[in-house]
Formats: sequence, C-alpha cells, structure tokens
Amino acid sequence: MPTHPLYDAVAIGCGPSNLSLAALATELPGLRLAVLEQDPAMRWHPGLMLPDARLQVSPWKDLVSLVSPTNPHSFLNFLVSGGRVHRFLVSSREAVSRKEFEQYYAWAAERVGTVHFGQAVRSVERVAEEFRVHTDDSTWRARNLVLGTGRPPRVPVQARPFLGPDVFHAHDYLKAPRRTQGARVLVAGGGQSAAEVVHHLLTAPGALPAGLVWATGRTGLPPLDDSPFSNDWYTPGAVRHFHRAGPKHRARLLEALTYTSDGISEELLAGIYRRLYELDYLEDTAFHHAVLPGHRLDQLGRAAPGYEAVLGGPEPGGERLAAVDTVILATGYAEEPPAFLAPLLDELPRHDDGTFRVRADFRLDTDTGPGGVWVQNAARHSHGLADPNLSLSAWRSAVILNSLGGREVFRTDGFDTTFTFGPDGSTPPALREPTPPTLAEGTFLP
Ligand SMILES: Cc1cc2nc3c(=O)[nH]c(=O)nc-3n(C[C@H](O)[C@H](O)[C@H](O)COP(=O)(O)OP(=O)(O)OC[C@H]3O[C@@H](n4cnc5c(N)ncnc54)[C@H](O)[C@@H]3O)c2cc1C
Repeated sequence: MPTHPLYDAVAIGCGPSNLSLAALATELPGLRLAVLEQDPAMRWHPGLMLPDARLQVSPWKDLVSLVSPTNPHSFLNFLVSGGRVHRFLVSSREAVSRKEFEQYYAWAAERVGTVHFGQAVRSVERVAEEFRVHTDDSTWRARNLVLGTGRPPRVPVQARPFLGPDVFHAHDYLKAPRRTQGARVLVAGGGQSAAEVVHHLLTAPGALPAGLVWATGRTGLPPLDDSPFSNDWYTPGAVRHFHRAGPKHRARLLEALTYTSDGISEELLAGIYRRLYELDYLEDTAFHHAVLPGHRLDQLGRAAPGYEAVLGGPEPGGERLAAVDTVILATGYAEEPPAFLAPLLDELPRHDDGTFRVRADFRLDTDTGPGGVWVQNAARHSHGLADPNLSLSAWRSAVILNSLGGREVFRTDGFDTTFTFGPDGSTPPALREPTPPTLAEGTFLP
C-alpha cells in the first residue's frame, strides 16, 4: 500500500469547510496540503438536493470572499468564468439555488489541485512526530490534521433497528427510490430539512402520500429568524464573544438563538401552507394529514403492514398513534467524533459530554505531541451557532491557516458588528471604561 510523502497538513473531508481551507491555502504556496474526501466527486448533501432547494445565506458567504475577495475561487469568479453572471443576476434575485452552489463547489474543488477524491479515511494514528492517515488504498503522512467531516445524521435510538428503505434519515431521502405515493408517511422533525421533504412530498410528481403525519417536538413550525440584528450573531466578533462566555451563558445563547439557524424559511412555510389548503379544499384527492406540534417520536414498532409510531405529546397521556408505511427522520445532526479517530481519541481533549475542547483558533486544546489538530464544524458548543453554518466558513478557514502557519496571512479580526460584543478589550466611545468602584467619603472598609 503506497505511503505518501510528509504533508504539512492533511485535511479530512471535503465539504464546504475544508474546501474553503483548500481554496484559501492556494495563497500559501509553501504549504503542503492534501484534502481527502471519501466520495468520488464533489457533492453537497445529495440526499437533500431537492429541485427547488435554496441557499439560506448570501452567496457572498462563499469559500473565500469574506476574508480574501481577490482569491480566484470566489462564487463571483465562478459565475464570470462560466459566462453566466449577467443571467444569474437577473434570475436569482431572491435566493441562490443549492444546486448552483454545488456546481460552484465542484468547479473550485477541481481548480485548487489539492483535493483527493475516493479517499475514505478509516483510521488515524500518531507515529513519532507525525500523523498517519489510513485510507483503503494508501497511507497519508501529516504534521497536522484539519478535521472537516461534517456532522453525522442523528437517528433516534428507537428507530435504529428499522433503518432501511422505509425508515431512513432525511439526509438519505433522495439516495434511493422511496415508497411515498399513496402510502402512509410519517415525517418526524420540525426544521428546514423536514419542511423541504414535506414540500417535496406534497408537490413532486408521483410523491403524494395517501396520508401524511408531520410530528415536531417544537411548539410549532417556527420560521428562520433572518432579521438584521439576529444576523449579527453570525460574525467573527460574535464567535469570539461566545468562546469567551461561560458555560451557562453559552447554553442560554444557543437556546435563545436557535431559530436564527434552525428555523424554516418563510417562503417554504408559505408554500407548504398553501399546498395543504389546495389539497384540502380545492383538489379532488383522497389525501389526509395531521400536523402535530409538540409531538416527538417516542416509540416505533413493526405492524402488519408497515409500522406503528407512538408520538409523545407535550403532556402526559397526550400521545398519538400513527400507522405508517414510511418513516422519514428529519431529526437533525449529531456532534460526535468520527469513528476513524478511535486510535487517537484518548489523547484528544474532550469535555464530559464527549465534545472537543477547542481553542479560539479552532485548534484542539492539547499539548500532547508536536503536531496539532484543528476542527471545522465540530465546535458549536464552544464557538456558537455559526459553527455548522456557511456564514463563517471562509473566516474560520483563515483563522486555521493563520494558526497552522504561525503568522497572520489573512485578516481575521477587527470586523465591525452593530452589536457591541464584549468585553474584548475595546470600548466604543459611547461607553465608559470600567473603573473600580469609588468609595464615598467617610466610608471605611470593614
Ligand atoms: C441539506 C442541507 C442544506 C444546508 N444549507 C445550508 C445553507 O443554505 N446555509 C448554511 O449556512 N448552512 C447550510 N447547511 C449547514 C452547513 O453549512 C452544511 O451542512 C455544510 O455542508 C457543512 O460543511 P462541512 O464541510 O463542515 O461538512 P459536510 O458538508 O458534511 O462535508 C463533510 C465531508 O466529509 C466527507 N467525509 C466524511 N467522513 C469522511 C471520511 N471518513 N473520510 C473522508 N471523507 C469523509 C463527507 O463525504 C463530506 O463530503 C445545510 C445543511 C444541510 C444538511
């Protein structure tokens, strides 16, 4: 099995996060980087690449632009190079299609020259002063690692024994033909993916179920909070603020700001609402549905035919039973270390709940060994809601490259926000520097 020469860094996984790293790294010609991707080609969540799926962020939040707007791997350069920029501007005023961003990613992956496809990493070990990264057909040697394998789909434990063609995570929705037309379908989950799947079931040719149960543990189907001040939380200053905060404050922020990232886009909600109205009152179909807020999938068992689901309600005794043929689990994504890290896991610093201890520069907080391990999209608990999002992927890659190289190649600080996040050492003119409390005359300390 071939062993590659020593790289300065091997980045594992080539989603938008590590592709951004690779794109920015083209500005560091001395850096020997290899990016290993298990898939044979650049894909972006293919199981959910629904025909009308839209990007939930501005296309300026591409691989490079927010830290290095002159880097040639920008979305704008993709549009100009392909000769489509003028038509794009006319046709994509509202939102950019996810398909188009996938095309952009594939274009960039080919150009950067450091991405190696078909390299599924099976294990990583430390040998003397370097890491050895083993794939099925070779071993890659690295001084440093950057982990960017994304977050695995979260499958509720009660559904795991039944996973297969009729019980599956939404992440795999389009990966196989699904039995939905004329069937009884349960969609569990109340986020954007659940809504996209429901919209597809209701509108795509040959997909309409006979019965749809849509159960969400949330109090309803809240929209994405895309308002201006909410978006200030998706800035470098907010990430720094979050990282400095104590654990209780962080937990409060994650809870309070959930719908700035995990809500459903309003356009999609309106489309689903309208379609249900049409099906109920305007079209002659036998379709029936139940949308259940505050109900989680508590139990799943086989029935003849299909499955029986117990959907626990918001109050004791409020559960509902659903007899279904197909179960779609839009139950989100987990934050857990990838299996290939098993040989290294004991030496990697983690919190009690298993999440990594990550420094402000996305390096794992460990002093063992000479090389470092940096993480992309594995630090929501310590760096905030923007971590799994595209908003700051270019900025985070720039922070990592600065840290890896030990010098400030990219500007990563000093970006203004409207919120004053603090305390970070700078006090805006509207505020007073904190001073120690002064004692009134005649007051004596005990
Ligand atoms: C359907 C969907 C749509 C989204 N849309 C948006 C959006 O519009 N805006 C936004 O801000 N965020 C969005 N997100 C959230 C987030 O931006 C994306 O999940 C983004 O893809 C995260 O990028 P990533 O590179 O960290 O992880 P991923 O995109 O998950 O990429 C990880 C890569 O690692 C590879 N990999 C995994 N294991 C191995 C291994 N052992 N060896 C080698 N390779 C491996 C995978 O094949 C994959 O290519 C969306 C998420 C989903 C699921």
